[in-house]
Amino acid sequence: MSEEIERVKTLIIGSGPAGYTAAIYAARADLDPVMYTGMEPGGQLTTTTEVENYPGYPDGVQGPEMMEQFKNQAERFDTDVRNGWVSKVDFSGPIHKVEVDNGKKTIEAHTVIISTGASAKWLGLESEQRLRNNGGGVSACAVCDGFFYKGQEVAIVGGGDTACEEASYLAKLCKKVHMIVRRDEMRASKIMQERVEKAENIEIHWNTETVEVLGDQQVEGAKFMNNQTNEEFEIPVTGFFVAIGHKPNTDVFKDWIDMDEVGYIKVKPGTAKTNVDGVFVGGDAADKVYRQAVTAAGTGCMAALDAERYLAEKGLA
Ligand code: NAP
Repeated sequence: MSEEIERVKTLIIGSGPAGYTAAIYAARADLDPVMYTGMEPGGQLTTTTEVENYPGYPDGVQGPEMMEQFKNQAERFDTDVRNGWVSKVDFSGPIHKVEVDNGKKTIEAHTVIISTGASAKWLGLESEQRLRNNGGGVSACAVCDGFFYKGQEVAIVGGGDTACEEASYLAKLCKKVHMIVRRDEMRASKIMQERVEKAENIEIHWNTETVEVLGDQQVEGAKFMNNQTNEEFEIPVTGFFVAIGHKPNTDVFKDWIDMDEVGYIKVKPGTAKTNVDGVFVGGDAADKVYRQAVTAAGTGCMAALDAERYLAEKGLA
């Protein structure tokens, strides 16, 4: 661990709805929380458009705007919000050590709230990663990158709510959207599916898997296979979007914190407590079932209340 050391009562790692809600509660309880935002300040909601299911917004709200409001509310009560991420943790003692700023600094925290959320999953094809890493037209965020494909033909892989939402978004911008679904039915909710099925410029390819994304420097198309007939076919798309779910951002904690095989952190039932005393979790990092902004906010609140009680019991509040 690094030589520059700062000691805090409560450190919050991650800045989605869980992190900001934890910050609001912790700050109002005088825990003087310090938050490290992580690599995607504001979390997944900053890559979405309209949020219509968060109570208190009867007319809906844009995801990035909502997260700005969460941040403002946390800062109003003097949460110290810092841009940066955690590279290493040591949860072996009563004081939890967390390395930040590329290892230049160690935060020593009496309590830690993990709210690192989850990140997009990829198909794992070499061509997908190559054309993703060079900015050649592979993306996991239609809302961020759809604009670049205005008037063009694109493909999106997945059959969940995210894929439907993003396909609908792309359909408004693009000439044609090919939706690639690996089974003969979708996982998405009925209403989202209907929206996709009604759109004239979305073509759904059922029982279809991606063989390869085509193109050297830029996406020029993709090769697919019907997994019922084994027939392969190509579609000349210029953008290739992946919307097949998410993986929790918990790798940095894996030597210390109990998780399931995917990396979702295990909590003591009915609490936000992890297996390590003084380390709590809120939001998608521990939630593979609900994964909603409002549930993340709820469990972020639980994490802060559990942290407050822990500090009070230790006489540290
Ligand atoms: P998801 O529900 O896990 O769906 C993932 C989709 O990707 C499934 O259709 C899955 O197919 C497919 N898939 C997974 N791995 C694949 C692979 N290697 N190749 C091809 N296809 C693959 O994930 P999500 O859509 O991101 O949704 C996550 C959660 O957020 C859900 O609870 C969802 O309801 C919620 N959500 C809600 C909204 C909203 O209400 N506005 C919007 C977005 C997300 P299989 O079905 O065959 O496994």
